[in-house]
Amino acid sequence: MNRDFGGKWQAIAEEVISGMKGWRLEHPRATMQEIEEELDERLGKLRVQMLTDTAMASDSTEIRSGIGAERAVCPACDKAVEARGKQERLLTSQHNQVVRLERSYGVCPQCEAGFFPSG
Ligand SMILES: [Zn+2]
Repeated sequence: MNRDFGGKWQAIAEEVISGMKGWRLEHPRATMQEIEEELDERLGKLRVQMLTDTAMASDSTEIRSGIGAERAVCPACDKAVEARGKQERLLTSQHNQVVRLERSYGVCPQCEAGFFPSG
C-alpha cells in the first residue's frame, strides 16, 4: 500500500498557496468573509485529499484473509469473516465534499452479515 502522500499533499498545498495569492491579486477589495470563503474552498480540496489518503492507509480498511490477530470476526457468531474483495464506499465529509473510499468487504460464513472494517 502506498503511504507516501507527502509529495502529493505538498503539490496540492502549493496549489492552494499560489492559487490564493493569485486570487488575492485579482480581488484586491475582497472582504474578510470573501477571503475566508475562498480559502475554505481551496483548503477543502487539500483536506479531502488528506482525509481520503489517510483513511485509505489505515490498516483497518483491510480485512485480512490470512491468519492474524487483526483478522475480522463476526461479533454475532465469532466466526472469521471471509474477504469478498473491495467495495467503494462514499462518505460525505464536512463542507459536503464526497470522500471516495475503497475498502475491503467481508461476509460472515455463518450468518452472511456483511462487514466493512470499522475505522
Ligand atoms: Zn455471523
